[in-house]
Amino acid sequence: MIPGIHRPAAVCIDLAAIRKNIKEEIKHLEPGQKLFAVVKANAYGHGAVRVAQEAVKVGVSGFCVALLDEALELRRAGIVQPILVLGVTPVQFAPLAAANNVSLAVPSLAWLKEAEKFLLEKKADLVLKIHLAIDSGMGRIGFSEAEEFIAANDFLLNNTFFFVEGMFTHFASADSSDDSYFMAQVERFNHLKKLLKLKPKWIHVDNTAASIFDKNIHSDLVRFGIGMYGLNPSSNPTSPDLPVAIKLKPALSFESELVQVHTIHKNQGVGYGSTYIADNDQIIGTVPVGYADGFIRKFQGFKIKVGNEYCPIVGRICMDQLMVRLPHEMPVGTKVVLISNDTLAPNNIKAAADYVDSIHYEVACLLDDRLPRKYY
Ligand code: PLP
Repeated sequence: MIPGIHRPAAVCIDLAAIRKNIKEEIKHLEPGQKLFAVVKANAYGHGAVRVAQEAVKVGVSGFCVALLDEALELRRAGIVQPILVLGVTPVQFAPLAAANNVSLAVPSLAWLKEAEKFLLEKKADLVLKIHLAIDSGMGRIGFSEAEEFIAANDFLLNNTFFFVEGMFTHFASADSSDDSYFMAQVERFNHLKKLLKLKPKWIHVDNTAASIFDKNIHSDLVRFGIGMYGLNPSSNPTSPDLPVAIKLKPALSFESELVQVHTIHKNQGVGYGSTYIADNDQIIGTVPVGYADGFIRKFQGFKIKVGNEYCPIVGRICMDQLMVRLPHEMPVGTKVVLISNDTLAPNNIKAAADYVDSIHYEVACLLDDRLPRKYY
């Protein structure tokens, strides 16, 4: 995908905010605790390489990604810190990960046995760094049965193909003020932890929520994702506000400009299906952004900032364009902020996510590669 640099639309990223959010979290760490920046999914839409480079400047210890390809992108960009792939990597790519010093999550004993065959085949003295994934209640990936976990430990003892760097789990509801499910997960994780026959360097459970809501569980490192982008990890209506001690600053805004302004008359429609019909003379502005950019059709009716006014999106959002109803004539080139990085603005990312029945993680990740990222 080629970013559209010849149209006025971009995802703007405040790098100072990213650095500040990391520094805030580092201040909050327990003694000896490390911070791994989670830059999967192109750093939640913020741009993985650039975010990783900023994160290195302020002292993160490593990175988490979801795919081996994302790890390799960071390595190609010169990132030398540890990188952990959180998702399941097909076994045949174990040698590629090892050759690039990328650590992989291990979901099962079967995975280990198959990956070993591929490492053996390479005959290149490759050692794969691994983190044993524990499914303590996400129902997603990892060991959940004691028997299999013990067998995996036995398999790994004195096995020269693997270096057990970590053991981890992921919480389903670390952002909830009801701790019952969270504590059940902690218990299941601790049960398997006691069965370890190896000594991983990092036993880790914290994501942003578990860390900043002070869940009082030990984690050798924090996998810091959404907080780094300045966003509250919770989109749960019952969850607590961010602790005042941690001041996060949203880094992302989404900006464009009016490319056409014209008047429509009574009974004239706007957009496909003419779902919007003017009941009087109205001024309509066109913004060169559409659902192909990840700004989905559900945003119809959402108010975005045009100049100094919040204006509703009228008619269906097209693939590459959308229309807004303007309160008065405005010149072509007037700035449009579709998503604001000001938490108090009515079009902040949380408000945008609520409007489309989603979460801010998803709204940011959906912003397509066709939109250039502008860093400041
Ligand atoms: N760890 C794992 C395994 C994850 O899947 C994620 C994100 O989805 C994170 C950490 C980071 O979570 P957050 O962005 O809420 O900090």
